[in-house]
Amino acid sequence: MVGSALALALQDSGLEVLLLDGSPLSLKPFAAEAAFEPRVSALSAASQRILERLGVWDGIAQRRSSPYTDMHVWDGSGTGQIHFSASSVHADVLGHIVENRVVQDALLERLHDCDLGMLANARLEQMRRSGDDWLLTLADGRTLRAPLVIAADGANSAVRRLTGVATREWDYLHHAIVTSVRCSQPHRKTAWQRFTDHGPLAFLPLERDGQQDWCSIVWSTTPAEAERLMALEETAFCAELERAFEGRLGEVISADPRLCVPLRQRHAKRYVAEGLALIGDAAHTIHPLAGQGVNLGFLDAAVLAEVLLQAHQRGERLADVKVLSRYERRRMPHNLALMAAMEGFERLFQADALPLRWLRNAGLKLVEQMPEAKALFVREALGLTGDLPALAKP
Ligand SMILES: Cc1cc2nc3c(=O)[nH]c(=O)nc-3n(C[C@H](O)[C@H](O)[C@H](O)COP(=O)(O)OP(=O)(O)OC[C@H]3O[C@@H](n4cnc5c(N)ncnc54)[C@H](O)[C@@H]3O)c2cc1C
Repeated sequence: MVGSALALALQDSGLEVLLLDGSPLSLKPFAAEAAFEPRVSALSAASQRILERLGVWDGIAQRRSSPYTDMHVWDGSGTGQIHFSASSVHADVLGHIVENRVVQDALLERLHDCDLGMLANARLEQMRRSGDDWLLTLADGRTLRAPLVIAADGANSAVRRLTGVATREWDYLHHAIVTSVRCSQPHRKTAWQRFTDHGPLAFLPLERDGQQDWCSIVWSTTPAEAERLMALEETAFCAELERAFEGRLGEVISADPRLCVPLRQRHAKRYVAEGLALIGDAAHTIHPLAGQGVNLGFLDAAVLAEVLLQAHQRGERLADVKVLSRYERRRMPHNLALMAAMEGFERLFQADALPLRWLRNAGLKLVEQMPEAKALFVREALGLTGDLPALAKP
């Protein structure tokens, strides 16, 4: 998703761009009645703007996207709760829940319409310096030479590993169970998140043919509990899920096949080196409770494109680490701040100690009564704050 967005942002610039991916990069025909893909992203207003300006949003809207206007968060072991609404900041929506496959296909459709170079089924296996360039070797033996490599190859980035970029990692000792479920009551365009004793449980609203009875769930829990929940047959799983969610949307009627993903938060100590830049999950993976992973990635792509295009206009050498550092300086503090906040949240809500339980309940209640603090939070979630690239500016 993030690499494709960057490639599109560099189109028509006179730069020679080659997008390579280990997958076939083929478009799947979309059927409106198709089952939901288990992997979804909550796209912020800033991401929507970036995708609109890259000509991708129409492709998303034509396929399937689910707007949400409200967010409701509560502590399962207390009485603290908080409610956010788009109307509090005079916005129409807080964001859209979109299946990752839909985002990828809309990006691919646009890429196929441009004259950007694309290499499918191109799995990178080796890379090394050769003079001022990188020499890349693919799994099928082909070699490529490039002065600048931008790694958007995800959480387990091969580029990051092959170039020895150090990371800081936190293992949450948590797995996330991901699937789509049908409930007996409509979700009312609300994203729901309950903090349970084992971790956060999110119900994200999905819409199909105007029906509001499907949700995408992300259930973070201990590996042992995840293993037990994954082994349950559908009816028993639905019953456990309904209980863990306090039946807020009535009965959980059915669940699609489940995926289980181990959760790690990871941050590269540097995003750039001579001839190299990391963006998206290759640079940072964040706990899904924030629902911000790909949103940070799209902002990385937009800022890096802006930096490269400005440098190109000035005739600077794009692979120069001094040029690339401008991107790092703009993105790293923002990403780190959000990751630190998520780390704090995660710990606070995992804490069993009575004073900490009291603190989080009191904190939630306090913030709930502070409309200005809530509006600040909503603006941050909408991506309306901070050093925004032109592609994301309202
Ligand atoms: C349970 C869960 C829930 C989430 N929910 C949200 C959410 O609500 N909102 C949100 O914003 N984010 C969410 N995220 C995070 C989001 O999914 C990621 O941030 C996003 O997928 C990162 O996109 P990316 O393009 O950087 O990397 P990826 O999507 O991982 O793409 C990497 C690409 O690199 C290619 N590749 C990998 N290795 C190689 C190689 N060696 N050679 C060639 N190509 C290669 C792959 O084929 C792929 O196309 C969630 C994550 C999880 C685990």
